[in-house]
Amino acid sequence: MAQLQRIAIALDQLQQNQIWLTAQQQHYLSRVLRLQKGDRFIAMDGIGKWWLAQLEGKEAQILETLTVETELPISITLMVALPKNGFDEVVRCCTELGVACIAPVMSDRTLLNPSPQKLERWQRIASEAAEQSERSFVPTILEPVSFEAGLSSFATNHKYICEGRGNYPHLKKCLQQTGQTTILIATGPEGGWTEKEIDNAIQAGFQPVSLGRRILRAVTAPIVALSLISACEV
Ligand code: SAM
Repeated sequence: MAQLQRIAIALDQLQQNQIWLTAQQQHYLSRVLRLQKGDRFIAMDGIGKWWLAQLEGKEAQILETLTVETELPISITLMVALPKNGFDEVVRCCTELGVACIAPVMSDRTLLNPSPQKLERWQRIASEAAEQSERSFVPTILEPVSFEAGLSSFATNHKYICEGRGNYPHLKKCLQQTGQTTILIATGPEGGWTEKEIDNAIQAGFQPVSLGRRILRAVTAPIVALSLISACEV
């Protein structure tokens, strides 16, 4: 199945064993990928299902349901203070690494004020990265909210905030506790978190953690955090 191309579809495109392709998908399959009538591809709904499908012009015939086991056993939400540049890369890499949800937040030192079109762009990047990395789920990208609002938005007992300075335990050590099935992890912007933000996070039940002795860029830190958590899978 490895060589077959994958496309994400919406559930309302499905009718019994047919997929009604959008004009954009028809163009992509026929013109970009150069698939012919009768050629096969994989359709994924982004919420856990994959199907082997056969192109029939404006629609595709579902041939069989496929089983995919590429998801992490742990559900990771990344709360990330929007960096000035490079957030597209964070979305792409963290999707490849298995993130379940990305919650962009505006912190005291966030410099970016994202336009409403950005969310759509990030969702498209996540969808493409999920296809590329053969995931069965496309991560949810939430609307940016203030850091304060983000602090109280998620129910899990395992909440971490990455802080490069101070004598905090390494994330890897904290992950050695057993039984974590959901994790919320927060990373800061270029200028870092303010002291008040760290205090508020601690009040909200977050454990400050280190990612090592070097100060990582705001774009590198979430990718390293996700890599450490996903490494616990093996
Ligand atoms: N200007 C800040 C300073 O000098 O401390 C550095 C901020 S850093 C570029 C951006 C974010 O990445 C930080 O807020 C933190 O969340 C995360 N980060 C970077 N290096 C880290 C490390 N070694 N341990 C934990 N978090 C780190």
